[in-house]
Amino acid sequence: MATPIPSDLRRLVAERARYRCEYCLLPQTMALHRHEPDHIVPIQHGGVTEAINLALACLRCNRYKGPNVGSFDPLTGLLVPLFHPRLQSWDQHFHVVGAEIRPLTPEGRVTVLVLRLNDPDRLAERQRLIEARLYW
Ligand SMILES: [Zn+2]
Repeated sequence: MATPIPSDLRRLVAERARYRCEYCLLPQTMALHRHEPDHIVPIQHGGVTEAINLALACLRCNRYKGPNVGSFDPLTGLLVPLFHPRLQSWDQHFHVVGAEIRPLTPEGRVTVLVLRLNDPDRLAERQRLIEARLYW
């Protein structure tokens, strides 16, 4: 069962992220479902419900991430941790080309893969937001 996250902690996480998903950068105002605090290191892997271990995530990023903490780098085959929004900078691990989120590092590659950041429907949505100047 999910650990309840106190409302003040939820607010802190959302404000700190400026109401954008910390993985795909989707603004909360453009999402159908409310963004959620994601346990970066899931409870089942020893993660705690504290600000340092929480990131704001859109519904899709949160669902695809699930209890994952890493995956195999498609380039090297090595086991690599997912991007960590509290310890790492988004700009150092990803960049946006067109509507595509392109990874710059092994952590970026496994995060794009596991969180399906460039699924066709997500690319189409991001393209519409870019054209409306609502993304970035
Ligand atoms: Zn997202």
